[in-house]
Amino acid sequence: MTHRIVIVGGGAGGLELATRLGKSVGKQGKAKVTLVDANLTHIWKPLLHEVAAGSLNSYADELNYVAQAKWNHFEFQLGRMRALDREARTIILEPTFDEQGAELVPERSIAYDTLVISVGSTTNDFGTQGAAEHCLFLDTRKQAERFHQQLLNAYLRAHAEPEAHEGEINVAIVGAGATGVELAAELHNAAHELAAYGLGRIKPENLRITVIEAGPRVLPALPERIGTPVHRTLEKLGVTVMLGAAVSEVTADYLKTQDGTVIPAVMKVWAAGIRAPGFLQDIAGLETNRINQLVVRPTLQTTRDDDIFAFGDCAACPQPGTDRNVPPRAQAAHQQASLLVKTLKARLAGSTTALPEYRYKDYGSLVSLSRFSAVGNLMGNLTGSVMLEGWLARMFYVSLYRMHQMALYGPFRTLMGMLGSRLGRGTEPRLKLH
Ligand SMILES: Cc1cc2nc3c(=O)[nH]c(=O)nc-3n(C[C@H](O)[C@H](O)[C@H](O)COP(=O)(O)OP(=O)(O)OC[C@H]3O[C@@H](n4cnc5c(N)ncnc54)[C@H](O)[C@@H]3O)c2cc1C
Repeated sequence: MTHRIVIVGGGAGGLELATRLGKSVGKQGKAKVTLVDANLTHIWKPLLHEVAAGSLNSYADELNYVAQAKWNHFEFQLGRMRALDREARTIILEPTFDEQGAELVPERSIAYDTLVISVGSTTNDFGTQGAAEHCLFLDTRKQAERFHQQLLNAYLRAHAEPEAHEGEINVAIVGAGATGVELAAELHNAAHELAAYGLGRIKPENLRITVIEAGPRVLPALPERIGTPVHRTLEKLGVTVMLGAAVSEVTADYLKTQDGTVIPAVMKVWAAGIRAPGFLQDIAGLETNRINQLVVRPTLQTTRDDDIFAFGDCAACPQPGTDRNVPPRAQAAHQQASLLVKTLKARLAGSTTALPEYRYKDYGSLVSLSRFSAVGNLMGNLTGSVMLEGWLARMFYVSLYRMHQMALYGPFRTLMGMLGSRLGRGTEPRLKLH
């Protein structure tokens, strides 16, 4: 029987893996490659803050899994994994429902010989009182679009009833990591664009943005020499940055920090910390950590089952020689997908040599502050760490997305897509206004 490779989660890592395996072993008939995802379309997650601010039309950048599967010789199954039966070697998918709540497909199982789990992560609100009810999160396109709609609604109300809405719109962002600071800058840009289109009476400076960070500095996970210029730029843009401020409570009208400071906000975004989806916790006896990540060895095999691999944000992969795990980043998911292409091909070929081990290569970190600035560092074997700022940094920032597109579409279609979006700029508003 043909070997069945099932990949669950078609995100930054899983979709690249399915595409590359489909084009090789799938096309050659050496394996049946199946991708399972809870959604019908894919959008690269690092773009979600741009979707939230409206500077990116998510429909223009989305990819349809069914078409991608057809073009690249793998099979796509729509469904949300909820359980695993290691003895029967099957995964169990929740039933799917249509928009009216009618059942489309009942609960079902899919059999595998090799299973790869790449279901990503969601934001971790650390159980903070009121956060789940009152904060918006940026884990999915739907959530990013909901944020955008709320922002537009606030402007539309102010436009229709100028007397009642002369005031401000307060937005609070919890977490001064890359997502938080990039969203703050995109929102500041959106405020200028909305004012330029004559929509609403809210002047750009009256969209009040506050970034609240529990740690002592902006971008706590990145080198200080990146955090400092980013902090300076945010202040120049009029964004209020609160450091050493841990949010302890969120209500419909405000956030409260541990020292009792109250920050009024109509819109609240939680962008601090991650955890893997809850269904992974202790799933079928596999080893998981306190944030539900599957613990894997450097080969990306789970510690208790050689036929189950996990990678990307949902995996806790050690970095040899340190006490840290590989960071949850698109860069790591991309590199791990490339390693797994080699690994799974070697296993199919019956290779008896040890499987390759994953070593995280940090090529640097880049933070884009909308059209205002981009800051970061590039890491090279010979050059060490080189600081970048401005358009050069922005170019390298965009190149990470281009690498993802190249893995999915190849060079020709990526180039055509780039040209298409450049031409579209002249005919479409710079901000999504619906
Ligand atoms: C706003 C934002 C900005 C970011 N910016 C950057 C950046 O600039 N640089 C960087 O390196 N990283 C960035 N990241 C982090 C980066 O997006 C993640 O590290 C990366 O997407 C992880 O890839 P992944 O394949 O593990 O998971 P994801 O890309 O999250 O994909 C997971 C997939 O699994 C599917 N799924 C989830 N649960 C199930 C289930 N139960 N059953 C079936 N399918 C399921 C989802 O639908 C999704 O398609 C950013 C993240 C966010 C939210």
